[in-house]
Amino acid sequence: MTGMYMPLSLINEGYPNMVFFLYTIIFMIGALTGSFCTLAVYRLPLKKDITHERSFCPNCNHKLKLLDLIPILSYVFLGGKCRYCKQKIRPRYLILEVFAGLTAVIFAISFKFSFTSFEVSKIICLFLGMLYITGQTIIAGIDKENKQILKSMLIFNWVVTALYIIYLFIVGMANINRYAIYLFFMLTLTCIYLLDKKQKRKKPYAFYICIINIILMIIQNYVLYYFI
Ligand SMILES: [Zn+2]
Repeated sequence: MTGMYMPLSLINEGYPNMVFFLYTIIFMIGALTGSFCTLAVYRLPLKKDITHERSFCPNCNHKLKLLDLIPILSYVFLGGKCRYCKQKIRPRYLILEVFAGLTAVIFAISFKFSFTSFEVSKIICLFLGMLYITGQTIIAGIDKENKQILKSMLIFNWVVTALYIIYLFIVGMANINRYAIYLFFMLTLTCIYLLDKKQKRKKPYAFYICIINIILMIIQNYVLYYFI
């Protein structure tokens, strides 16, 4: 096993390029996730499939190839236009992808996603944390567009929240007070969901809640890992 740890333990000491490389990967994973979020926000309320059906250009309906789906890069190389009909693609997608990539990097740094000691526990933490952020982002996006919370997403986020809390508890990465933040936000979202059944909303409250949640979660990590 030491053989596995060795190369990564060297990374911090003598290979700054490797650090850059690994954070680039995290950035790209974040950008891909962001790209998936915009797709989910659009399709889920319409009850369309989000995993099997390939994306298409909204202008010419041409199905996009895998090469067209690489976040940021495909946008840059195609000059912000559809490969098939040359229709301009809204820069909004590019901005969202860059933003999602940066969020992933900031989140990874927040709990010292380590290159000094390669820990499986931190990889799982990164995975679950990003799943949590993804779930919150999709709820936020759908709420902003439609002022509604989907039951399926609410259930999904409860499951992810439970897994994340159990995981943090098992590896002892956090003390019990930390869980309160996740539970508080999930309970608030559930209340909004239940109130929605009685009366339709005009303001995207769940959107604000989710965004504040993600920001606080990351700030909390920085405080815990860097100042305490
Ligand atoms: Zn097109």
